[in-house]
Amino acid sequence: MSEITWPHLAAAQQPEWPDAVALQQVHETLLALPPLVFAGECDELTIKLGEAALGNAFVLMGGDCAETFAANTADSIRARLKTVLQMAIVLTYGASLPVVKIGRIAGQYGKPRSSGMETIDGVSLPSYRGDAVNGLAFTPESRIPDPKRLVDVYHASAAALNLVRAFTQGGYADLRQVHAWNQDFVSESTPGKRYEEMAGEIDRALSFMTAIGADPEEFRRVDFYASHEALLLDYEKPLTRIDSRTGNPYDVSGHFVWIGERTRELDGAHIDFAAKISNPIGVKVGPKTTPADVLALLERLNPNRIPGRLMLITRMGAGNIRDVLPGIIETVKNTDHPVLWVCDPMHGNTREAASGHKTRLFEDVLDEVRGFFEVHAQMGTHPGGIHIELTGDDVTECLGGISGVSEDDLPFRYETACDPRLNRIQSLDLAFQVAEMLGTRRT
Ligand code: PEP
Ligand code: MN
Repeated sequence: MSEITWPHLAAAQQPEWPDAVALQQVHETLLALPPLVFAGECDELTIKLGEAALGNAFVLMGGDCAETFAANTADSIRARLKTVLQMAIVLTYGASLPVVKIGRIAGQYGKPRSSGMETIDGVSLPSYRGDAVNGLAFTPESRIPDPKRLVDVYHASAAALNLVRAFTQGGYADLRQVHAWNQDFVSESTPGKRYEEMAGEIDRALSFMTAIGADPEEFRRVDFYASHEALLLDYEKPLTRIDSRTGNPYDVSGHFVWIGERTRELDGAHIDFAAKISNPIGVKVGPKTTPADVLALLERLNPNRIPGRLMLITRMGAGNIRDVLPGIIETVKNTDHPVLWVCDPMHGNTREAASGHKTRLFEDVLDEVRGFFEVHAQMGTHPGGIHIELTGDDVTECLGGISGVSEDDLPFRYETACDPRLNRIQSLDLAFQVAEMLGTRRT
């Protein structure tokens, strides 16, 4: 297999690997490893995302801010998957709309950082850049970038994806399991109870369908796609392969990758990379993005105007979205670009608690999603999906919501390696509220 050649362009947020020989060995190892996903699966996702761009489906993306090797366990993966499946069923049932399910999973191991150094109690060390690069432990040794971690990312991702495929294709995601997904927390929470009622209604509908002889394949399995930020080009490039069917390059490290807010320079290596791969891709769009920036990104990343190829993931902050998003949408509307609009209500709403914990208010998250729906309604465009940082566990990382996490609760279960995630109750609560927004929009 011939190696794809890439131009030498500036790449933001890359680690300074101390050992060039080790990096070269890792490169060769990754080049020889088999693909984690097939090009055909990526194309199938592009088609589904194209439907979402038209308003005929809704995208739910969710998972960790930063996956870690330590949390890449069956329990943790199952809990995250279960949360996304429960949210998806709430959205599907509540809005009568197909939901395209995408995990931030099986590859989300690299993190961009606002600052290269982290200081604790007067000691400064290089920042943690995700398990793909260095260790979370605050010691000089642990913070040295080690390229061999990229090979560990590949194997951890392969294991996670294998389990996800087994869960989603092998009976666990059978619609007749909707009750089972809720078992461990039904009695504890309002969203849990609400879910249980809905699951009862779904059960009755399924029994009716079975009684009349209908038993479609869709009852038994779900399509679940893997995504991560295409940040570390030393990982993504050797995992980019030419598809023998089409002759086009695909990044086979995941079905969908996105370019983050800090690495989307038009003339930088990340945008060049994203432009060349044929996967469906996303770009994060923050509050300082101008309509001209967006236009340039659209032309660069989707010159053929393929529906579903490009998702713009707006992450404006609850206080900005109603002011900034209309101008961007207006500009895009004046073109023939088929943009899929997705709301990330997490990254514009991060704040520091008095205790120093990085946190987010559930009410801000909800308000940004509400703003997103309001602006799209006003502009006559489709709110195509949400992108959420979540976990399946009862962590105490985001404040508020029905579970009432308070500032005092933050230290109890603050387990994230990077940004604060919605816990299971907060995630399900959000899904019910978004289902209402979607349902209202369609009536
Ligand atoms: C992220 O998705 O974890 C992230 C870093 O987002 P952004 O690039 O939007 O800041
Ligand atoms: Mn994050």
